[in-house]
Amino acid sequence: MKVNTVVASSAKSNGRPLTSDCDVAVIGAGPYGLSAGVHLKAKGIAVRVFGEPMEFWAQKMPEGMLLRSPRVASNLSDPDRAFTLEAYEAASKKEPCAPLPLDTFVEYGKWFRHQLGSDLDQRNVLRVDRDQPGFRLTLQDGEELRATYVVVAAGIGPFKKKPEVFRNLSPDQAIHCYEGRGIRKYSGKRVAVIGAGQSALESAALLHEANAHVEVIARQPDVKWIGQHSWLHHMGPISSMLYSSHDIGPLGISRLVAYPKLVSYVPLTLRDKIRKRAVRPAGARWLPDRLSSVKITTGRGVSQATALADEVALKLDDGSERRVDHVVLGTGYTVDISRYDFLPQELTQDIKQFDGYPKLASGFRSSVPGLHFIGATAARSFGPLLYFVAGTEFASRELVSHLPKTR
Ligand SMILES: Cc1cc2nc3c(=O)[nH]c(=O)nc-3n(C[C@H](O)[C@H](O)[C@H](O)COP(=O)(O)OP(=O)(O)OC[C@H]3O[C@@H](n4cnc5c(N)ncnc54)[C@H](O)[C@@H]3O)c2cc1C
Repeated sequence: MKVNTVVASSAKSNGRPLTSDCDVAVIGAGPYGLSAGVHLKAKGIAVRVFGEPMEFWAQKMPEGMLLRSPRVASNLSDPDRAFTLEAYEAASKKEPCAPLPLDTFVEYGKWFRHQLGSDLDQRNVLRVDRDQPGFRLTLQDGEELRATYVVVAAGIGPFKKKPEVFRNLSPDQAIHCYEGRGIRKYSGKRVAVIGAGQSALESAALLHEANAHVEVIARQPDVKWIGQHSWLHHMGPISSMLYSSHDIGPLGISRLVAYPKLVSYVPLTLRDKIRKRAVRPAGARWLPDRLSSVKITTGRGVSQATALADEVALKLDDGSERRVDHVVLGTGYTVDISRYDFLPQELTQDIKQFDGYPKLASGFRSSVPGLHFIGATAARSFGPLLYFVAGTEFASRELVSHLPKTR
């Protein structure tokens, strides 16, 4: 059934025509939304995926970035596993390379999305309201549409954490790594990078290579590097027993993380410990060399940040001071679904949550019937795999097995 044609339906809302209905509306066309859409479509479900494909990766992530995840964990998911990264490289005659450059991954996603054809609608969703049975979606141009189910696959964009101490700096003085597409323009500038996770350290390396004068400042006592025990990954079948191919988390935990259904049965306090341990701040193995001449100050926090006429003064908690032109915040994100501006308060207040994460049951069902969440927002229920592209396979198959055909 074709669902994307705008029809001058007899049903009207606020004087505007309603487009034809669909079974499932997926909000967000990143790795999760695209994969879910393709699986749902293959099951014969009338699905529409909303949003500009791969927008977050193409527009926000630092130019020149390399993916932290291994190639095998960087595939989007389709039911026949035919639209893999490898298939894309073969089709576009690209040499496979690892680590994977950001641009290649973005192009791969844009190639993958062609499976959706006209079921991909590049407009943003402005608002979701209950409209029994199901939901009414308002799109960016004011058009409205009804969907029986809504799957929120809108990523982490709104969840950027900007610590209080940096609040008074202007957006040009303090940018978050998650909107650091153009950080290379800071060539020749003095830049403090705050944090020592992958985003912070990768941004520091890119800035340094663009001839900025960089200092990394991090609270943690030392910088951790992923893959320090690389010999453990080269012991054949024994390594496969210790680590999953997704390479998320340390020895043992890595295997558990690969079974999100199992993780969902673990008591919440233990599940949280596993989640935090699996994604603790650390830099990829190719970063130490690139950062060898970058100053890294650990065990120090910034206690004050003051905007001066044409620079920023940072006071550290040991009393020392830095003068910089820009601050790049690699301070992570805090999931809080009330920050999705397309979800009105009337809806979010009925969604049972654990501190901003929706409480999800099998099929990624929230406590509001028909409303599902996939991607990072599902990580508190199904574990840290859902923070990564590698979770698209599980999320899509699980969704499809719980969403019935409604026509
Ligand atoms: C710097 C950085 C590096 C990372 N590196 C890796 C890595 O190497 N490997 C890995 O697996 N993960 C990595 N991640 C995590 C990564 O964010 C997730 O793996 C991935 O983006 C999850 O896909 P998603 O579809 O849930 O979210 P996204 O890719 O964020 O896609 C969600 C999309 O929804 C869109 N959207 C939001 N609101 C609306 C709306 N109202 N209407 C329509 N569309 C909307 C957004 O524009 C966005 O394009 C990294 C994250 C960051 C920030």
